[in-house]
Amino acid sequence: MATACIGIGSNLGDRQAYCMDAIERLRAAGCVILKISSFIETEPWGLTDQPPFLNGAVLVETVLPPHDLLKLLLSVESSLGRIRTKPWGPRCIDLDILLYDSTVVESSELTIPHPLLHTRAFALEPLAEIVPDAVHPLLNKTIRELFREVHQ
Ligand code: ATP
Ligand code: CA
Ligand code: CA
Repeated sequence: MATACIGIGSNLGDRQAYCMDAIERLRAAGCVILKISSFIETEPWGLTDQPPFLNGAVLVETVLPPHDLLKLLLSVESSLGRIRTKPWGPRCIDLDILLYDSTVVESSELTIPHPLLHTRAFALEPLAEIVPDAVHPLLNKTIRELFREVHQ
């Protein structure tokens, strides 16, 4: 068993319903949902001319190794009707692996910790609520510290 932190975002349609539905689908697929953060409204990042996001995070226990967990996240996104248009474009649901125990993964399809996690307040704020003392395995700083650094 491993514990993983999954970042959840949506900026199309009924954002809250998409996020809650994604969590239910993860649960139905066997993930044990240990913690659910608050969901916060955030300004779009990267491509700013699009609707605001709802962002949150969950802590899950899973038997799936990292690449299988990614496959599950991508299949839940597809099952909810996500269509990829442009990078960082609008989406009804986005599920990212932010942390997976203290595992580091660098492959063409998967990077853990998520490579932009430490730069993104919208990902760090909900994460800091559920796992403030988790340590970023490459930066050796806690999520609380990383959030403080980006939160001006
Ligand atoms: P960003 O990754 O910058 O948040 P995004 O979430 O909009 O951007 P997507 O289009 O959802 O990007 O995903 C593109 C690809 O990113 C996925 O198909 C997956 O192979 C890859 N990827 C690499 N690392 C991760 C990770 N930690 N979690 C989820 N996807 C990842
Ligand atoms: Ca993302
Ligand atoms: Ca993604």
